[in-house]
Amino acid sequence: ENKINIMDVPVDYITMEQAVSRVMSFFETTGCHSVYTPNPEIIMAAQKDKALMKALHHASLIVPDGIGVVLASRLLKGPSLPERVAGYDLVQNLFARMASTDYTVYFLGGAPGVTEEAAIAMSNKYKGLKIVGTDHGYFKEADEEAVIKRIQEAKPDLLLVGLGAPKQEKWIEKYRKILPAKACIGVGGSFDVMAG
Ligand code: UDP
Repeated sequence: ENKINIMDVPVDYITMEQAVSRVMSFFETTGCHSVYTPNPEIIMAAQKDKALMKALHHASLIVPDGIGVVLASRLLKGPSLPERVAGYDLVQNLFARMASTDYTVYFLGGAPGVTEEAAIAMSNKYKGLKIVGTDHGYFKEADEEAVIKRIQEAKPDLLLVGLGAPKQEKWIEKYRKILPAKACIGVGGSFDVMAG
């Protein structure tokens, strides 16, 4: 595996196309593979946040969301990262591939109403995309069990978690062992963009 350590965060040396294929390959495996798309701010935050760094170290795939991460890799010895792989674009490319398959996706995160709007917009944009559930990201701790139960019942292949960083990374790390999804991606504010 080809990874470049940027301030102790192992970023995958991978192009967008390869990243899409890698996530698709997770759908054929067991266990939940976590995928994160850190920008420089998150890499900096991880220096002081042990739980965040642990989540990043347990990831199956880390791609550079910001051009700043790609530029940082150029300052280090050895090969630099081939290109920026933005989380939003990665997800759009995944949807395009998934639309012609039976693989399913679940949206978790964003403000109440926004998540559903994002799901409607994406089902219209990617005909055949199978969105098997949505939940907003402002649930109380007491409701968390119910949220997890809904995801477990929906059994998505892909779970998108848009709770903002570093909350989403820690959430995925905490629950990935009991989540049925084959891949979980921390998507930040992507649902807001999808909803338009
Ligand atoms: N969010 C959420 N639950 C929270 C806090 C935030 O679902 O408790 C959502 C928020 O609605 C937004 C996203 O998380 O959709 C955070 O977006 P932002 O662009 O601030 O995060 P970043 O992309 O910088 O991680």
